[in-house]
Amino acid sequence: MPHESPLISVIVIGLGLAFVLGTLAQRLRISPLVGYLLAGVVVGPFTPGFVADPRLILQLAEIGVILLMFGVGLHFSAKDLIAMRAIILPAAIIQISLSTLFGMGVAFLLGWSAGVGIVFGLSLSVASTIVMLRALQERRMLETDRGRLAIGWLVVQDIVTVLVLVLLPALAGVLKDLGTDQVHAVNIDAISRALAITLGKLTAFVIVMFFLGRRLIPRILHYIAHTGSRELFRLAVLTVALGVAFAAAELFGVSIALGAFFAGMILSESPLSQRAAEESLPFRDAFAVLFFVSVGVLFNPSVILREPVALALVVAVVIIGNGGAVYFIVRKFGYPLGTALFLGAGFAQTGEFSFILANLGIGLGLMPENARDLILGASIISILANPFMFALAERLRRRGEPQPAPGVEEAPAKQEPVLEPTGLSGHAVLVGYGRVGRLVGDGLRHDGVPLLVIENAPEAIRLLRNQGVAFLEGNGADKRVLQAANLPAARILFVAIPEAFEAGQIVEQARRAVPGLHIIARAHIEAEADHLRQFGANTVIIGEHEIARAMLAFAHQRPDMAAPAALPPASNDAAPDAVPG
Ligand code: AMP
Repeated sequence: MPHESPLISVIVIGLGLAFVLGTLAQRLRISPLVGYLLAGVVVGPFTPGFVADPRLILQLAEIGVILLMFGVGLHFSAKDLIAMRAIILPAAIIQISLSTLFGMGVAFLLGWSAGVGIVFGLSLSVASTIVMLRALQERRMLETDRGRLAIGWLVVQDIVTVLVLVLLPALAGVLKDLGTDQVHAVNIDAISRALAITLGKLTAFVIVMFFLGRRLIPRILHYIAHTGSRELFRLAVLTVALGVAFAAAELFGVSIALGAFFAGMILSESPLSQRAAEESLPFRDAFAVLFFVSVGVLFNPSVILREPVALALVVAVVIIGNGGAVYFIVRKFGYPLGTALFLGAGFAQTGEFSFILANLGIGLGLMPENARDLILGASIISILANPFMFALAERLRRRGEPQPAPGVEEAPAKQEPVLEPTGLSGHAVLVGYGRVGRLVGDGLRHDGVPLLVIENAPEAIRLLRNQGVAFLEGNGADKRVLQAANLPAARILFVAIPEAFEAGQIVEQARRAVPGLHIIARAHIEAEADHLRQFGANTVIIGEHEIARAMLAFAHQRPDMAAPAALPPASNDAAPDAVPG
C-alpha cells in the first residue's frame, strides 16, 4: 500500500531509477521512455520495495508539463494559432467525436451503458501533450508546419478537455441514466450555466493575457534583464511560467498546460525575453521525465493478466482508432501523405488528460473502477508503441509517396523536407547554417568550393533557398540525411552546430561511413572537444579559444602592448594519423 514518502526521496529515487533504466534502454537501442515508465512501475505501489507517493510524483510531473508547454509557447505566435483555426478547430473536434464513438463501441462490448461509454470514449480521445512534444522535439519538428499543426490540435484538445471537466459534474445525472430505463430530467439551466461560466472564464483569461500580460510580462523581464543578474532573470522567467500557469488554473479554471502555453506565447513576441527564456529552462527535461515515471507509478500491471481482451480493445481504440481518425482527417483537409501519417502516429497515444478525465468520471460514479486500469494500461502501451508508430509512418510514407518528377516543386504550404540524395561531388558538407555556418558557407562560396548545407531550422532553410545554396533539410544526426549528402565523394565535412551531443553523433556516423574524410567540428569547452575528437573529428575549434586569440591579437597591434607573446596554441588539431583511417 502506498505510504507517505518525503519529496526528496521521490525526486532522487524517481529520477535516479529513470536515469539508470533510461540509459539501459538506450543501450539496448530502445526508447529511453521505456526505461522511465519501467522506473515508475518499480517505485509504484503494485511492485514490492520502495513506494513513491503517486500524488507527489504527479505534482512534480505537472511542473514538467508547465515548463514544456511554456517552451512550446515561446516558439508559437498567436498569429499562427489564429491563422490555423479554420483547420484545427473542425479537425480536432471531428477527431474527438470519432475517437469517443470508438471508445463507446468498446464500452458497449464490455457491457457498459451509453453514458459510461461517452465518458470512457472521451477519456481515450485526447493525446498526451508531453509525449507529442517530446516526439516533435526529438525530430526537431516543433517549428515546422507539421509541428504547428500538431500543437494547434493539442491546444484544441486541451480546451475541449477543460470544457468536459467542467461540464461532467453538471451532466453526471443524465449520463448515469443514459441507456437505462430511467429518465432523468435534463437540467438545461445547470448545464448552460456551467458552460457559460467556463467559456466566460476562458475568454476572461485570454483577454487578461493579451491586454495585461502582453504589456506587463515583457516589461518586467526587460527590467530584470537590465539589472544584469542572470540569477534574477531566470527566477523571473520561472515565476512567469509557473505563476501564469497556476493563476490560469486557480482563477480561471483553465488547465495549467494551457496557461503555460499562453505565457510562453506572449513572451515569444519579445526577442530578448525569448532568447533568455530559452536558456532558462534547464529543468524542463528532468521534470518531463518525472511525468513518465508518474504514469508507471499509477499503472497496475496485473490488468494485463486480468483483462487481456478488454485491454487489447482499448489499445486498439487509442492506436488504430485515434491514429487512423487523425490520419483520415488530415488527408481530407488536403495535406500530403507524409503529414497525415506523421500526425496519425503522433496522436496514436493517450496520457495525462485521459487519467484526469478517468479519475473524475470514476469519482462521479460514472465509470467503474477497472476502467481506470484499462485506460492507464492502454496509455502506457500506446506510449511505448509510439516510437514504432513513427517508424511505421515513415515506412508507409516512403512506400506510398510517389517520387516527385525532377524539377517539379511542391506548393510551399505542403512542403515535405527536401531529402533528395545530392548529385554533388568534391563538395564541402556543412552541418548548421547559423551564426557560424553562414560565415563558413560565405567563405567556401567565395573560394568556389561546391557546397551542400544540412539544416533543419525553417528560417535557415528559407535563407538557403533565397541564396540558391544546395541543402538537405533535416537533422544532421539522422543517418538518412548523412547518406543523402554523399559523404564518400565529399572533400570535407564542417560540423558547425552548437550542441556537442548531436555533433558527436554526426561525427561518429560520418567517420564510420568514410574513414578518410576530413572533419572539422565546433565546440565550446575542452571536454566537448575531447568528445568530438574521440568520435573521429580531425580538427575541433573551440569558439571561446578563438575569441581569446583574436582579442590578444588585436591588443598586440597597439604600440603600448608588448610584442606578441605566446598566444594560446592554435585550435585543437588532432594529429591526422591519430584519426581512425
Ligand atoms: P548557430 O549556433 O547560430 O551557429 O546556429 C546553429 C545552426 O545549426 C542553427 O541554424 C540550427 O538550426 C542548426 N542545427 C543545430 N543542430 C542541427 C542538427 N542536428 N542538424 C541540422 N542543423 C542543426
